[in-house]
Amino acid sequence: MTIETKTKTYLNFLNGQWAASSSGEVQASLNPANSDVVGYVQMSTKEELDQAVSAAKSAQIAWRKLSGNERGNYLHKAANVLERKADEIAECMTREMGKTLPEAKGETARGVAILRYYAGEGMRKAGDVIPSTDRKALMFTSRVPLGVVGVITPWNFPVAIPIWKIAPALIYGNSVVIKPAQETAITCAKVIECFEEAGIPAGVLNLVTGSGSVIGQALTDNPDVNAITFTGSNEVGKRIGQGALARGAKYQLEMGGKNPVIVAADADLELAVEGTISGAFKSTGQKCTATSRVIVESKVYETFKEKLVAKVKEITVGDGLKEGIWMGPCANESQLKTVLSYIEKGNQEGAALLIGGKQLTGDAYEKGFFVEPTIFENVTSEMTIAQEEIFGPVIALIQVDTLLDAIEVANDVKFGLSASIYTSNIQSMLSFVEEMEAGLVRINAESAGVELQAPFGGMKQSSSHSREQGEAAKEFFTAIKTVFIK
Ligand code: NAP
Ligand code: MG
Repeated sequence: MTIETKTKTYLNFLNGQWAASSSGEVQASLNPANSDVVGYVQMSTKEELDQAVSAAKSAQIAWRKLSGNERGNYLHKAANVLERKADEIAECMTREMGKTLPEAKGETARGVAILRYYAGEGMRKAGDVIPSTDRKALMFTSRVPLGVVGVITPWNFPVAIPIWKIAPALIYGNSVVIKPAQETAITCAKVIECFEEAGIPAGVLNLVTGSGSVIGQALTDNPDVNAITFTGSNEVGKRIGQGALARGAKYQLEMGGKNPVIVAADADLELAVEGTISGAFKSTGQKCTATSRVIVESKVYETFKEKLVAKVKEITVGDGLKEGIWMGPCANESQLKTVLSYIEKGNQEGAALLIGGKQLTGDAYEKGFFVEPTIFENVTSEMTIAQEEIFGPVIALIQVDTLLDAIEVANDVKFGLSASIYTSNIQSMLSFVEEMEAGLVRINAESAGVELQAPFGGMKQSSSHSREQGEAAKEFFTAIKTVFIK
């Protein structure tokens, strides 16, 4: 990145124009690998958020009247622009939140694919014919947009999550106001630039940056926002859900996880080790679907543990922009502190630290927020590190005697986002599929990993029980009209 872009202030995108906030207040977006300033984002005011909502409300009237195909053309164009700028945007993502460049590139490519998937959705079926009891009548359902959709996103997938909310919202005829996580607002602004270059009509898509407590709250409370889609922590999600419910707005919350991987005695251990490492430590463990508990049948415990530790020792930690680095820093200082405090809790509560556990310091790490990939063993289900989402590169090994015990332990948390098992036994696979309380169950595959054409979301406290992506998105972003014609 040039010096110029490094120090640029990124503005709000309001009614088709890049607009400065009246607050005059900006926040530096820092690179967690070295504390460099990536750029500045505005701390906007509630008034600016309200202006964005009112622009979105006006623009939606014409937007909803376009054909699905016409709306889809804008998404196709935005996909092409994003594809062309993929390297630049991926690099920005790595600088803003630390994930390695190959991961950032993969995520950006996914953003392109999501846009193309939903571009086509404008041409797919929007209802059903239902036989009426009246032979002279035609009865059918049709799907209509909700109006203005508020989008609130976290920092861990700065391209994919905004796009997997914006794209379906738009294709079904809604207009959008997005408030991204301040941590990765520059990457989001670059995504919005792709829509601008695609010629999206003014007001259909608006971006307002600022703090969650001001801008996120104002978006939740604005009576002209018909629906809110949120991904982030449970604490914030619940508050947004309550706010939306209080004024009768539709809401969708995707929140935390405490995702287990079960390693059965008959598992391919090499595969299980590989999946555990990838699921737990990619993106520095900062995925809602990251593996954080590894539940192992005692018969293979020692062998599995040995292989796992040997592989973890090979993980290279550093600046995600550098070649040969496998794991980047935590996304910011407060995230690092949270991770270290969970490690301390693990030690205090009697878990045994097997490897890692420390902040990385010295030379290459000096100004960054790096922590070692960490494994605890002798973990039991009551311990804090077995219950709470850490959102960092920390796993808890739990030993069990039987597969039944494994599933019981796996379910013994308030979350239910994703779960995985390694086994070669078909009966074990089927029991796992049936008994596991999770929205995503994966067999002989890591807990993290989402395909954009399939429903995504959690059970229990991981979600508001709605689903995102694929065809499931239609349920949230539209309302059903039942039509009766005589
Ligand atoms: P977060 O703190 O909940 O923030 C998420 C978003 O909400 C940010 O844009 C934040 O703004 C905003 N916000 C904060 N307070 C608000 C308020 N009072 N009203 C409205 N909005 C408010 O979460 P995070 O730390 O960014 O992300 C990590 C969490 O996301 C983890 O728990 C992870 O599991 C979860 N996650 C879940 C999924 C899933 O699909 N289930 C996917 C990815 C991540 P700021 O910019 O001010 O922070
Ligand atoms: Mg940052």
